[in-house]
Amino acid sequence: MGSISSDHHVVLFPFMSKGHIIPILNLAQLLLRRPRVTVTVFTTPANRPFTSKFLSNSSTAACSIVDIPYPENVPEIPAGVESTDRLPSMSLYVPFTRATKLMQPHFERALESLPRVSFMVSDGFLWWTLDSANKFGFPRFVFYGMNNYAMSVSRSVGQNRLLSGVQSDDELLILPEFPWIKITKKDFDPPITDPEPKGPDFELFIDQIVSTSNSYGVIVNSFYELEPLFADHWNRVGKPKSWCVGPLCLAELPPKNEEPKNELSKPAWIKWLDRKLDEGRSVMYVAFGSQAEISAQQLKEIATGLEQSKVNFLWVIRKAESELGDGFEERVKGRGLVVRDWVDQKEILWHGSVQGFLSHCGWNSTLESICAGVPILAWPMMAEQPLNARMVTEEIKLGLRVETCDGSVRGFVKWQGLEKTVRELMGGEKGEKARTKVKELSEIARKAMEEGKGSSWRCLDMLLDETCKLEQHD
Ligand code: UDP
Repeated sequence: MGSISSDHHVVLFPFMSKGHIIPILNLAQLLLRRPRVTVTVFTTPANRPFTSKFLSNSSTAACSIVDIPYPENVPEIPAGVESTDRLPSMSLYVPFTRATKLMQPHFERALESLPRVSFMVSDGFLWWTLDSANKFGFPRFVFYGMNNYAMSVSRSVGQNRLLSGVQSDDELLILPEFPWIKITKKDFDPPITDPEPKGPDFELFIDQIVSTSNSYGVIVNSFYELEPLFADHWNRVGKPKSWCVGPLCLAELPPKNEEPKNELSKPAWIKWLDRKLDEGRSVMYVAFGSQAEISAQQLKEIATGLEQSKVNFLWVIRKAESELGDGFEERVKGRGLVVRDWVDQKEILWHGSVQGFLSHCGWNSTLESICAGVPILAWPMMAEQPLNARMVTEEIKLGLRVETCDGSVRGFVKWQGLEKTVRELMGGEKGEKARTKVKELSEIARKAMEEGKGSSWRCLDMLLDETCKLEQHD
């Protein structure tokens, strides 16, 4: 069980967005699998039910959940909205995130009544939590949910001012530290792409960067063997030190398909996948995470592309039928299933019938696909997803890219471009190569998380040991 030598009390504080909450709760599960570790998870009232349900299999004696209020009457944010997937538009991310600063007094009052804290892992978006950690005298580790590749590439772009003065969005720019990697302006979002960045989004970005570089470490949801070059590079030149403790989605292994499961408790889409498996048919899983914004025009092209590709598909989406085009679901009945509920994505990816994933390349989805041994058809939309797509298709080669009309990373995708790449991933030679590669990686990922032995397991043990020594010096 490692060499952890004293009691630890760890505070975890995720940002209120599913892609940030889920991996931090997985981290809680990993910590709780160790002896003499207790965990306190901070959240808000509206996020508490999701958090409690997620942690319901963990020891209640060792894990507590504290909710502190999300501020009321924040301009532009509808009352009761406490997570980004419920925002009317992702353009409200800045006011939503900036307002979390008003949670600081509640957070600090709650900390006063907690047992001594060994260290905290808080989200990079909650920049102000570093002040609280400093006041209370414990180290803060940052969590962004990014991998070392994206962190190192972003750092190189910033340090070398690669985007300054670049006119064309699609000009290929070479990274001096990694000359085989070429990026474009379109791989990044504002404020990074603004020629003269200023305003609330830039100010928030700077607050987060400053707070990160003054933190004790960064928790990376990745495994060393996936990106040794970038993990080593970051720890040679980047700050603060990165700790690879993932894939966090393996904190709890999903049940194996062979294990009998009560048919009644299975969701309809899993029964549908079971039938496809019995028929010997493979299925493409289609999902774009919890917060992607896709235009009505683009949705119709996706629907047509899937229809024309003739592959079996399971599409998880939060849109009305009309937005997919009239009669679409009826026409693809039997071959395609559209689901509008919250699903257990890991359960789907792990299903034996699923042989491809059309994904926005959110890092959690990407890692879940790697762990399940499912190749990716990459369609990045926002944040660091374009970098994840580059990593997946160019660096590790476990997937292909959708074909955009103008060939750029984030261009419009016509149904023909989608159909062609869907067929290639599901039945073509390139798809098969990617499948072989990702299956190899899924084995390595499992080994990295092996209790007591894997590189990620040992890395978390080392982190616990190191923070323990810090406490002893106090
Ligand atoms: N997810 C899920 N069910 C859904 C939608 C999303 O379990 O219906 C999970 C998914 O498995 C992943 C997370 O939500 O763990 C989404 O994170 P990701 O980084 O992939 O994308 P984001 O939503 O942050 O864009």
